[in-house]
Amino acid sequence: MSHPDAAVVTPADGQPVVLRGGTVLTMDDAHTVVPDGDVLVVDGRIAAVGSALEVPPGTAEVDARGGIVMPGMIDTHRHMWQTAMRGYGADWTLTQYFVWYYLEHGKAFRPEDVHAGNLLSAWDALEAGVTTTVDWSHGLQTVDHAEAAADALLAVPGRFVLAYGNIQAGPWEWATDPAVQGFLQRRRDEGRLGLQLAFDVTGDPAFPEKAAFEAARELGLPVTTHAGVWGATNDAGIQLMHEHGFMTPETVYVHAATLDTDSYHRIAATGGSISVSTESEQSAGQGYPPTWQVRRHGIPVSLSMDTSVWWSSDLFSAMRTTLGADRSREHLEAHARGETVTQVHLRAEHVVDWATRGGARALGRDDLGSLEPGKRADVVLVKNDDSPVSFPLLNPYGHLAFQAQRGDVHTVLVDGRVVKSAHRLVGADLPAVRSAVDATVEHLRSTMGEETWAQGMNPALPGDEVLDNPYTYTEYKSASTHDARGSVFGDDAAGR
Ligand SMILES: [Zn+2]
Repeated sequence: MSHPDAAVVTPADGQPVVLRGGTVLTMDDAHTVVPDGDVLVVDGRIAAVGSALEVPPGTAEVDARGGIVMPGMIDTHRHMWQTAMRGYGADWTLTQYFVWYYLEHGKAFRPEDVHAGNLLSAWDALEAGVTTTVDWSHGLQTVDHAEAAADALLAVPGRFVLAYGNIQAGPWEWATDPAVQGFLQRRRDEGRLGLQLAFDVTGDPAFPEKAAFEAARELGLPVTTHAGVWGATNDAGIQLMHEHGFMTPETVYVHAATLDTDSYHRIAATGGSISVSTESEQSAGQGYPPTWQVRRHGIPVSLSMDTSVWWSSDLFSAMRTTLGADRSREHLEAHARGETVTQVHLRAEHVVDWATRGGARALGRDDLGSLEPGKRADVVLVKNDDSPVSFPLLNPYGHLAFQAQRGDVHTVLVDGRVVKSAHRLVGADLPAVRSAVDATVEHLRSTMGEETWAQGMNPALPGDEVLDNPYTYTEYKSASTHDARGSVFGDDAAGR
């Protein structure tokens, strides 16, 4: 199909596509990098990776010169329904999040609100080169909500896993509900969505969650669980899961930040993986982002963004913050021993692996996560000729982790289909998504009332304690006092 913008490539169904002349990060077992490389896609699969490939007649061509070609990224934990409230909770703690969603306002979400949030989040993911996303969907109060969540995901040409959850009831209640089980069986038979069960284990010695694990086992579905979350889940939950035989290789432990060594041993020994949400752990309070200790146990890691009610939704941010948090901790631990770190353990290449192969491994999808012949063609081209940040391209892993950002995602293929081309989504009706999300926001605001809505977005500040300073000689007001804004720029800065 021709397009007025020559850079836009939208092949017809069945038409092969080749990305030409990029730096190809295959993320195969050897992490082979092909400079000036081509990736050929035929019938939804990677047909070949190499240099100056011969391609079938009529193959559509994407100019990848100056860019990085990589596997589609995989997010293993995102509460997509909450994207309808993008940024609202930027200043929350985990406690405020729990109060808002679990106790006070989560029930206000109707099926159409879950649909709107999922639709926005799904396009958001694709636009950022995240070709597979696990929708950790814990707002499914009714099966109607679940139908809405699934329908929204299926309306967008990405890969999605619906991780079924419901924070308004105990997992032993909803996971054994015949209506829920019927929904899961039907959606599984349709085959277009991946499925998991999503619930947390409180550590109650009576282990009421056992019934939910048994339901998952009967349905043949993996479990994903928030583990090691300060104040919510802890080592007792891991012990109960382990003693009852519910820790399996397909189990995904989200955060796993506040756990002792024994719990990491149990996770490592049973083959499960950890989904690290560094942006989340850094500001919500689950515990210190755990990769610095997880990697010492050899536990597989994948990356996730958790929720856009606070944070971004692109894995460039996840890679960057995860590298930073790991290295911060490594330096800090060394300094406490009076030592200096002269070589860091975690490399940019490792976090690119976690964002691609790590996610595929966590989801048991050997056919995703790398650019190798025969694998499903989920491919991302990171290239931005208009940006001074795009060159020189010397260290492609480092470039992805520390230089690139979501606006640099030029082309995205899912299952061989071009869903973003020349920096624009293909086939997304964003005005329609916007009006659905606007309706959800309007519904929530009017249900809560303006005062409660405003309070929810602006949690009270704790009292600031300013320490006595023996060297005090100025009346400078700190950044925590709103009326001081601009003072650092001098009195005449306002008009600039
Ligand atoms: Zn979460």
